[in-house]
Amino acid sequence: MIPDHNRLTIHEAHRLLKTKQLSSVELTKACLERISKVEPEVHALVTVTDELALRQAEKADELIATGDTNPLTGIPMAIKDNMCIKGVRTTCSSRMLENFVPPYDATVIEKLNECGVVIIGKANMDEFAMGSSTEHSAFFPTPNPWDLSRVPGGSSGGSAVTVAAGEAICALGSDTGGSIRQPAGFCSVTGLKPTYGRVSRYGLVAFASSLDQIGPLTQDVMDCALVLNAIAGYDARDSTSVPEPTPDYTRCLTTELNGLRIGVPKEYFVEGMQAEVEVAIRAAINKLEELGARIEWEVALPHTPYALAAYYIIAPSEASANLARYDGVKYGFSYADTDSMWEALEKTRQYGFGAEVKRRIMLGTYALSAGYYDAWYLKAQKVRTLIRQEFDQAFEKYDALVTPTSPTVPFKIGEKIDDPLQMYLSDVCTLPINIAGLPAISIPAGFADGLPIGMQIIGKPFSEETILKTAYAYQQATEWHMRRPNI
Ligand code: GLN
Repeated sequence: MIPDHNRLTIHEAHRLLKTKQLSSVELTKACLERISKVEPEVHALVTVTDELALRQAEKADELIATGDTNPLTGIPMAIKDNMCIKGVRTTCSSRMLENFVPPYDATVIEKLNECGVVIIGKANMDEFAMGSSTEHSAFFPTPNPWDLSRVPGGSSGGSAVTVAAGEAICALGSDTGGSIRQPAGFCSVTGLKPTYGRVSRYGLVAFASSLDQIGPLTQDVMDCALVLNAIAGYDARDSTSVPEPTPDYTRCLTTELNGLRIGVPKEYFVEGMQAEVEVAIRAAINKLEELGARIEWEVALPHTPYALAAYYIIAPSEASANLARYDGVKYGFSYADTDSMWEALEKTRQYGFGAEVKRRIMLGTYALSAGYYDAWYLKAQKVRTLIRQEFDQAFEKYDALVTPTSPTVPFKIGEKIDDPLQMYLSDVCTLPINIAGLPAISIPAGFADGLPIGMQIIGKPFSEETILKTAYAYQQATEWHMRRPNI
């Protein structure tokens, strides 16, 4: 008797599937049952793809019967609702795309299909991935399963909650300024943002193209490596994907960190950060030292405070260009109640987009307009270069940098919704990483009054192995990642 199939990790489930102690149909049904039980409370999914999931599970069981398996074969997974799946509604949690059914699969979906993954549903998110709390979904907010009065983080809040609440074994999210890591931290799951260019963005609905990256949300680091194995790699359809070889990311996972040089940038222990978070992260870093790492406690990254400002010029600028395509003509919502073309265009965008998306479009349009471009956009790009150079210099001395994922534990639903700046500040620790295009992982590192605390481990470009190894060693020595919310 195996309890709670929906709580198995990928590697545990794979072992049971391979030895025929469990079928993918049974595993999928366990997740679907869990979804019908907890979804009325957690609202993590925009669409439950139960028919598709059961069809894929049957196919996976056939594959397993022939012995032709992959670690992901038959594993139920949730997908953030900004990745295109052929024939499955892909909304970006926006009225604009409420009824949009893509005619093609994103590259990551193609790759998962080749592995025989079971897709269990599309996860709720902040509209077009703009936000840090999943409150900006046009449909409904997603509460945090650790405390239903609090946010799960965002924008991949739905994805993180499906994993934390046991609705899916693992999930995919996307991260433009922290949207995988921050919800991973808030929900006590493991979330990796790969190096920019590591995973194809083809079929990911664009927010800020120079920052967006797809990555896994999982129950532990081993699972994270398994999902990364499946989705990483060059793709001719994404000109920013990098033709670097992809190793087997499970190979690097060892339990000691002898000689690993870790830096702790002091700028990430920001003023106003919650004392319990600082205490927990410092204790976690001590643990890394016990495991053999050499810690340098006072690393200086003096340009860090400018990252937030640069991000909120660059990301909205790119968003304003990317979202120009939603004009009511090509696809998506279309306001039809007029004979005037201009009125149709205006009303389409007025009704189709929510307040935060409009705010970003206005900010970006302003920053890119003639006369302001040099003062805002160009300057932000220069700051971006300085931040990247500063990280490059730090990585001459250190193999990894460690910081908190967020300055606070999950905040209350409604607390920051009317104060965009406060909302933006919840990503201070994650944004600089996207600005520099680096890989970073968030792993569970403690609790304050029952609320999760995440630790961020940052690596140099294409050093996913180093950060996975560091995170894995930490998880082998601790049990934070094994705790589950009582829901
Ligand atoms: N919270 C940040 C924003 O609103 C990052 C979002 C993301 O990573 N998609 O832009």
